[in-house]
Amino acid sequence: MLRIGPSGNCALFYETGHKHTYEEAEWLRSLGLTAFEYSFGRGVAIGDAAAEKIRSEFSRCDIEISAHAPYYTNFANASESMIEKSIGYIAASIVAIKKMGGNRVVFHPASCGEMQRADAVSLAKRNIGLLMEKLREQFGNDLNDCIICPETMGKLRQIGRVEEILDFCTLDERLYPCFDFGHINSYLGGGLKTYDDYRRIIELTADKLGDEKTANMHVHFSKIKYGESGEIKHLTFEDNVYGPDYEPLAKVIDEYKLTPYIVCESDGTQVSDALIMKNFHKND
Ligand SMILES: [Zn+2]
Repeated sequence: MLRIGPSGNCALFYETGHKHTYEEAEWLRSLGLTAFEYSFGRGVAIGDAAAEKIRSEFSRCDIEISAHAPYYTNFANASESMIEKSIGYIAASIVAIKKMGGNRVVFHPASCGEMQRADAVSLAKRNIGLLMEKLREQFGNDLNDCIICPETMGKLRQIGRVEEILDFCTLDERLYPCFDFGHINSYLGGGLKTYDDYRRIIELTADKLGDEKTANMHVHFSKIKYGESGEIKHLTFEDNVYGPDYEPLAKVIDEYKLTPYIVCESDGTQVSDALIMKNFHKND
């Protein structure tokens, strides 16, 4: 089943009198949305009681929940202790999202720093291999239902081109791509426009990773302002300068009968824009 929902609590959530994240479940259900991404961007800090309340409400309302790991992860760091920290952020995100009833965790792979891109990419790949080894040690069979998603990134000095993410995902069966199409478009300076632009990414994914990972990929979507070094800031669907457009992506997803987990990351209008996205889909 294809799922669509917001990242985090949007402005409308608060304007309509809601306060706590567990209240998202009933609210999203009433609106016809089916997913919610919880951001641990600034650190994993959620108490057991709050996690349990979220788990029971989200499961009652059949809203799937996912987590965004802290933004500080960088698998192209030369320092071993920094790699351990990155692994720790993802492990903590998995522990927390499991308590909240979810199984998907998205993370930012790396940035080039002072390194040449090719060196940084191979270091990141080696360390993402190490990440999966450590996660298997820590979680054992509990990892088997997890979907860990390295994300495509929008700044030129970040690691996370489509081809790099696909390559990372060949390392382990639990690694699925997170395509942030706003990031991809920013990285390409506005290169994501047509049905064929999206289709090529989906076909490349199917070639590299097979049908299961393609069908159940993770998607982030928002319009994003970009400049010379790539991503500048997330926009809303009011934008008609930068893009990208959702409609051709919806068409590819429908025609290939994919069932991705789609998160709207608009700036403040995540729910209203997620509803616009949902309406572009013919089958669901
Ligand atoms: Zn992200």
